[in-house]
Amino acid sequence: MRYINGFMQPFAIIALLLILGRVVMELWLSRANQSHVCVHANEVPILLRGIMDQPTYRRSVDYTLAKNRFGDIVNAFHAVILIAVLFSGVLPWAFEKFSANFGSSVLAMAGFLFLMGIGLSLPGLPFSWYGQFRIEQRFGFNTTSMKTWIADRIKGLLLTLLLGCPLLILVLKLIEWTGANWWLWAAAVVIAFQLLLLLSAPAIIMPLFNKFTPLPEGELRQRLFALAQRTDFPTRGIELMDGSKRSRHSNAFFTGLGRFRKIVLFDTLVAQLTAPELESVLAHEIGHYKKRHVIKMLGASLAGIVMAFAAIAWLARQQWFYRAFGFEHQPGFAASGSCRMVPAMLLFALLAGTITFWVSPLIHIWSRHFEYDADAFAAATMGETQSLIQALRKLSEKNLSNLTPHPLYSSFYYSHPTLLERERALQEGA
Ligand SMILES: [Zn+2]
Repeated sequence: MRYINGFMQPFAIIALLLILGRVVMELWLSRANQSHVCVHANEVPILLRGIMDQPTYRRSVDYTLAKNRFGDIVNAFHAVILIAVLFSGVLPWAFEKFSANFGSSVLAMAGFLFLMGIGLSLPGLPFSWYGQFRIEQRFGFNTTSMKTWIADRIKGLLLTLLLGCPLLILVLKLIEWTGANWWLWAAAVVIAFQLLLLLSAPAIIMPLFNKFTPLPEGELRQRLFALAQRTDFPTRGIELMDGSKRSRHSNAFFTGLGRFRKIVLFDTLVAQLTAPELESVLAHEIGHYKKRHVIKMLGASLAGIVMAFAAIAWLARQQWFYRAFGFEHQPGFAASGSCRMVPAMLLFALLAGTITFWVSPLIHIWSRHFEYDADAFAAATMGETQSLIQALRKLSEKNLSNLTPHPLYSSFYYSHPTLLERERALQEGA
């Protein structure tokens, strides 16, 4: 009964409104975007003529619509699951049963959180499968075999178990060791772990999923190495990745930190672009490094970790927070220590997305600013804008990018400016 009572708590109502507010906004944005692209479905918009031909444009509209419609189902389903999990009383029930059977030691609590995490990620699996093997397949992008797809999930689970569990145990131990300021210690440890992961991921974790090879000898290699030397970027940090193992989508990205930094070009990208176009893409990626975007983004995400732990520590002291979700008078609750924090961690993890969703437009303004900046760096380094413009046009075409998103939709979901915005900025800069 107390679970149901929890439902009446003011904060439970606020949380419910936040979840509903998010899903309504998601569905509305998607509807707005769908009607926005449908206006031009049968005719290429004037601004895009000469950039995309009619059949490709039509396919990009169909791809956008298919992804949006599927996304609507996924978002609605997730909201229903979240509401059910938070307000049915299943969480306090599971916590009680688990503590009764396995005690409230740090190990038991870490096990509880881990099992909860796995349990809560299971409902998303069929959607992930459908997205890959139905939608991506239909538009000719999927190259993932069932074997690779299953292996990816198993590797991901093992990595969480091997890396996530020890970290979780350490954080829970810190609660017992350090008292009221535990959250500062926990944030410091998680940040250190994050940095270590960033340093080692390119060498240790990423090769578990993909093959990385140096650029093959030839004109392209000479060209890219010349650019790297010109911009003082280590040439051994440029590698090819077999992106074609999973998808025909093409991309390039910057990863790692310090001496271990690396720019990765997908083999699909190398197959699609000419040597000067690839050079401009590499120049853009080097721009992200030179303009210190990577460090700034990292700083922001580390600040996010501190804020998250501060929020958990504060919420864990609020009776109303627990009461709202049926976590009252739990055995072991009177005692301080990690057991007290575990429900707060779980609830925070479940609710964080409903808040960060509203912040995403702000983060995207920031990341788009970085994209313009990296484009300008590429244009300055190349001494011309045409190669980059051609590269971006080809990327949009090959990836069937939606070139006419609804402005509000793109503000919530696009970390990069649209093709037309980037072209305009490049031409103005020139
Ligand atoms: Zn970029």
